[in-house]
Amino acid sequence: MQDPIVIQAPALAQKAQRSTREWQQADAAHFLHPFTDSKALAAKGSRIITKAENIYLWDSEGHKILDAMSGLWCVNVGYGQPSLVEAATRQLQQLPFYNAFFQTATPPAIELAELLAEVSPPQFQHVFFAGSGSEGNDTVVRMVRHYWASLGQPERQVIISRENAYHGSTMAGASLGGMRYMHAQGGLPIPGITHIPQPYWVEHGQGMDKDTFGKVAAGWLEAKILEVGPEKVAAFIGEPVQGAGGVIIPPATYWPEIQRICDKYGILLVSDEVICGFGRTGAWFGCETQGSRPDLMTFAKGVTSGYIPLGGVMVSERVAKVLIEQGGEFEHGFTYSGHPVAAAVAVANIRLIQKLRLVEHVRDDVGPYLAQQFATLKDHPLVGDAETCGLMGALLLVKDPATLTPFPAELEIGMVCRGHCFGNGLIMRAVGNRMIIAPPLVMTRAQVDEMMALIRRCLDLTLADARSKGWL
Ligand SMILES: *Cc1c(COP(=O)(O)O)cnc(C)c1O
Repeated sequence: MQDPIVIQAPALAQKAQRSTREWQQADAAHFLHPFTDSKALAAKGSRIITKAENIYLWDSEGHKILDAMSGLWCVNVGYGQPSLVEAATRQLQQLPFYNAFFQTATPPAIELAELLAEVSPPQFQHVFFAGSGSEGNDTVVRMVRHYWASLGQPERQVIISRENAYHGSTMAGASLGGMRYMHAQGGLPIPGITHIPQPYWVEHGQGMDKDTFGKVAAGWLEAKILEVGPEKVAAFIGEPVQGAGGVIIPPATYWPEIQRICDKYGILLVSDEVICGFGRTGAWFGCETQGSRPDLMTFAKGVTSGYIPLGGVMVSERVAKVLIEQGGEFEHGFTYSGHPVAAAVAVANIRLIQKLRLVEHVRDDVGPYLAQQFATLKDHPLVGDAETCGLMGALLLVKDPATLTPFPAELEIGMVCRGHCFGNGLIMRAVGNRMIIAPPLVMTRAQVDEMMALIRRCLDLTLADARSKGWL
């Protein structure tokens, strides 16, 4: 009998040298991508990314690309950090896996739990581990309902979220999310989840000053609580700054007012920190920047800078005490809850954020610089608004900046701009008519300048298109 390993090794080596076209063909033949129209992608061919360093990617054709999206909002420390690679390698050799179900634990998971308690706001001393942000939010749904049941209030089931929120793609995550196109597939939302409008001034607040609008938008939570019945509401969940919804930065008055309303009715406040956590907004967590004091925080993405999957929920003492003392066994968990390799990478990642002082770098240096540079884009004839929070930002593309008159949605102005970005070595994402960025936190001022030059060039190319097509 032949040794299968000997047979496979040369075949694999050969595959590594396939051409872009060959990769694209194999991709189209076998790989169903997330959030993708597979037919349209197969006709066009995927972009094949082959390596990365710092804030740059390279594709299979050798093009260098500035990644202003940190992968998918996650590569906070940038690509190619040796300390994360070494932590993973060491742990893979020492103990690649053991579970945490059967009254066992591994040193990296314990160390990470301890470190997360250290960097989180003081009310958080406990953590529940999951494999992703979606699983973290599924955990939230079960945990808040179990919390209220343990307190003898099982009728408190309803979780209030917001339209255009993103909380993941599992059944509960997508239900908490407020994306109508996601609810339309698969019979969502699941029972006991309801939504209020988002605090998006352009959509709901024009004619009001922003601070007034922030309080009005928070007031929609109180109206919903009264409509549902305060004795039936378990929790409110929100992203401090909505990410996938288009980097919607709420007015400064919004979150403090949300906090006041949650306190008034005693309902739990859940901050989905999957994007905002780990320095993105210039604080360890977005709730600290936006002014809330959550009872639970979902995290994922930046906890490992995306080097390996990991997510979870920070649990405040208010909730943890009840779960531990009155909750009995929590019938929930994942094979990879507290995965030792993922935990080891997360520990190395958090230590690197501390060592490089990335939170302070965003808060005091590169964040304010980006804000200042972004503001200069308001002069551009396509830009109706340009706002940032830490190292996330959005440009609103409009037909007339003076009146914020939008382009008709079917022109897909954002996609036109995104096409120019791809063509010019810049990854910037389009959400409707908002162009959004969330670059790695290691970005320097010089790299902000480099990114700004690319953004201006792409806006100019988009403007030229709009003029030549008679859209303006
Ligand atoms: C990405 C994201 C999630 C889902 O995380 P996954 O790891 O993709 O499951 C949840 N909440 C927010 C705010 C996100 O941005």
